[in-house]
Amino acid sequence: MRAWEKNFRKIEPYVPGEQPKLDKMIKLNTNENPYPPAPDVIKAMKEVNAESLRLYPDDKADVLVSALADYYHVDKNQVFVGVGSDDVLGMAFLSFFNSDKPILFPDITYAFYPVWANLYKIPFETPALDENFRIRKEDYYKENGGVVIANPNAPTGLYEDLTFVEDILQHNQDVIVIVDEAYIDFAGKSAIELIDKYENLLVVQTFSKSRSMAGMRIGYCIGNKDLIKVINDIKYSYNSYTMNLSSLYVGAEAVKAEAYFKENLTKIIEERERTIVELKKLGFTCTDSKANFVFAAHKTVPAAELLEMLKKQNIFVRNFAKNPRISNYLRITIGTREEMDILFAAIRECVM
Ligand code: PMP
Repeated sequence: MRAWEKNFRKIEPYVPGEQPKLDKMIKLNTNENPYPPAPDVIKAMKEVNAESLRLYPDDKADVLVSALADYYHVDKNQVFVGVGSDDVLGMAFLSFFNSDKPILFPDITYAFYPVWANLYKIPFETPALDENFRIRKEDYYKENGGVVIANPNAPTGLYEDLTFVEDILQHNQDVIVIVDEAYIDFAGKSAIELIDKYENLLVVQTFSKSRSMAGMRIGYCIGNKDLIKVINDIKYSYNSYTMNLSSLYVGAEAVKAEAYFKENLTKIIEERERTIVELKKLGFTCTDSKANFVFAAHKTVPAAELLEMLKKQNIFVRNFAKNPRISNYLRITIGTREEMDILFAAIRECVM
């Protein structure tokens, strides 16, 4: 070992889903939206003045922050934007979890949480989901350094209503509670309506799923202005210009494209419900997912076998082999109706 290597910060990183470079494939492994962004977003993208790239973008991200503030009827000082919700969540962990007490998040949830906790040396505990993969709210009643809940949770897709979220908030008034709502638009009511009642609540959302813009990398959080100030101070202590120029303009357009957004959500939700019915007919058990993916295990054919069989046909889905409790489940993103029909046919061949 070379002497300087002992100073390296070593960490086991998060491993994102595969992004294969194939012309023809059915990509159902990273919860992207199968439909393109809104026509006005595509138009705005073409109108970005490339000559203006010589200038730094607006560090305050005002056009995007304003669009989001209008949309959610909150003040601009209650909105923070970042490079995907991963960036926002990472900043939030760094900003709000600086206690000796462990932060709490479920044992089965977004696999990035323990990575940020390790990176920032935040102690954490991971209470187990119950036998139906539901979060046991009582596990979050004990003293802690903060709470993180994904709602709907990933990769189970299970959604808890706002009474549940409020219960967690009621029992955790002395720490920051982050609710990661990456999939909320496919599910139900957002906790954003609780931010005035609970000043310690931070709600994080993304343009990657419901707004078909994973490639643009836009995420945001909404919360009390004092929280937003702290997270902005951290951002300005790290990188003042997180949002690139085009993301600000096309992001603002995306927020305004309400009719297209709603239409897309309806299509994906209908297809999700059909997918659950079809997979059950093929011998799967499925959670009651309210996200843009389903979480399904076959009664006899192991997930790894199904995954490989599908991969050979250029159909990509995701499996979490490392965790024994969910290693036999596949997480399948909802694609177009045509894509899902091809998936069902491929699975039928394998399991029947
Ligand atoms: N939270 C959850 C629960 C997710 O599944 C994802 C997607 N990997 C993210 C946050 C991050 O998404 P993005 O950075 O694209 O906004």
